[in-house]
Parts: sequence; C-alpha cells; structure tokens
Amino acid sequence: MIFVDSHVHLEDHRYDNDREDVLKRAQENNVGIIATVCCLTKTGDADFTVNLLEREGIYGIIGIHPHDASFYNEELAGYLRKVLQHPKIIAIGEIGLDYFYKHSPVQTQQDVFTQQIALAKELKKPIVVHSRDAASDTLEILKWNYKESEMAGVNGIMHCFSGDLDMAIQCISYKFLISFSGVITFENAGKLREIVKIIPLESMLSETDAPYLSPVPFRGKRNEPAYVVKVTNKIAEIKQMPVKEVAEKLYNNFNLLVE
Ligand SMILES: [Zn+2]
Ligand SMILES: [Zn+2]
Repeated sequence: MIFVDSHVHLEDHRYDNDREDVLKRAQENNVGIIATVCCLTKTGDADFTVNLLEREGIYGIIGIHPHDASFYNEELAGYLRKVLQHPKIIAIGEIGLDYFYKHSPVQTQQDVFTQQIALAKELKKPIVVHSRDAASDTLEILKWNYKESEMAGVNGIMHCFSGDLDMAIQCISYKFLISFSGVITFENAGKLREIVKIIPLESMLSETDAPYLSPVPFRGKRNEPAYVVKVTNKIAEIKQMPVKEVAEKLYNNFNLLVE
C-alpha cells in the first residue's frame, strides 16, 4: 500500500533542521509519492526543489502563487518555462486566487493566474489551483479555459479543497481532481466531509499542504508528509471503504499526472 502526498512544501525553512528525518518518516509510513510545491518569486528559486527531485518518489510542482503575483514579470515567466522542462516537474502550481489575504492586488492575481494557465495549456501540463475566498472568479477563469478542453487525462488539481459541492462538481466536469487535506479531520469540517462522501474516489487526491494544516491529532503542530496517512484514513472512514482500496485509487489518480 502506497500513500500519496500530492502537495507539500518541502523546501520550507521549518524543515531545515530535520528534513532527512521528515523524509525518512514518510518512507516508514509508506508515503511513497510526494509532490513538493515550489513558489517562485525570483529566478533561481527552483534550485532547491530540483535537487530534491533526484530522490525516488519525489515530484515537483512549480509556479507563481497568487500571494506572489506582484513578482511576476517577463524574466520570471521565462525562468518558469525553462524549469518546467525538467521531466519530474509534473504541473504548474500552485497558481490561482487568494482573496482572503490579498497579498497581491486582485487584478494582478487574475492576470498572473490566466498567464500561467496559457503556459500550462501550451506545454500540455496540468495546473495545481489554490483558491481561497475566490470561488466564483476561480470557476469563471477555469470555465473560460477548460470547458472545451481537449487535453487527455486530467487538466489539474484543486488543492486543499475548501469550496462547496457545486464547485467540486463543476471542477470535476473540467477534468480536475479534488485534493483533500487534513482539514477533513477537523471537528468543524462537516460540510467538507459531506463532499468527500458524495464525489467519486476517481476524482480525488490526498495531500498534507505541510508544513501547514496538520490533521487531528497533530493540529496546531508542524505538518509533514507522513501525516497524509491520517488524511487517507479519514477518506476511507467517510467512504466506508478499506484504506487499502482508497490508497490504491488515489495512487492511480496521481499517476494520471505523471504519465
Ligand atoms: Zn495553497
Ligand atoms: Zn501549498
């Protein structure tokens, strides 16, 4: 049985003192697939991630986060394009809209999101979408770009999904996978668990978004890839299915992105 952490920030400074131990614990817990997300703000930022990709089972996702949309310029776009040639960088992300923090102006976020989607479509790469308090604008942009999409397989991942059922169903119709994090273990996440129950396992993924969002019982502490087991267990519990079966399905779903 192999568990999949489809979204973690391994380069985060909170792992600087014990990154090897963190990766070892992932291995010991059968977390055999880890996709690490690198958020670019300047050229050269991907070096650390590219080094990590030499390890078995580690893949990269790279892009300009909505928080950092103001850093986007021609030079950075060119650098992103170049780094994406690496065979183990499987997607552009995380990209999208974050109206909760608005670290970058809304219009800039939308422009940079759209530009990176255009690049993804040109290179036939999936995208990893971060959307917070911006459901309707996110859906509008996805609809515009992916409704008539011809791309085989999956167009992308809605990471750390926090929307409603309608949003999940729409994203699935645009050939996106819905990725759930440790949030589904939180006591007040009943609505999210309803969505896990309803949407098909074929459209789902598991993630930690570590170092953030530790699942119960580690809530409030630093998160790490090994804890994706807790997320997968929770999905299995909600779906009333054996964990083994769930893990296998999620593993197959992730592999659609690697092919
Ligand atoms: Zn995110
Ligand atoms: Zn993230």
